[in-house]
Amino acid sequence: MEITRSYVDLSHQLPIAATSVMTDEQQHEVRCGTCARELYVDEDAHRLYSEALISGSDNPFRCEVCSEEYDDLG
Ligand SMILES: [Zn+2]
Repeated sequence: MEITRSYVDLSHQLPIAATSVMTDEQQHEVRCGTCARELYVDEDAHRLYSEALISGSDNPFRCEVCSEEYDDLG
């Protein structure tokens, strides 16, 4: 039997890769949680960012550079 979880366990939340280039889809500014670079995300992702800030959680967003480094660390 195979169980597919549609929601990621919050305690194992992975960084969300965001782009530093504004696009038609991604017009909301957030900051990379590691290097504070400006990034652009869509509305849903920006809501997630706001909620993380309000609740005092870690900023889940990472720029391309930082998310690559995170991958390297395994
Ligand atoms: Zn970064």
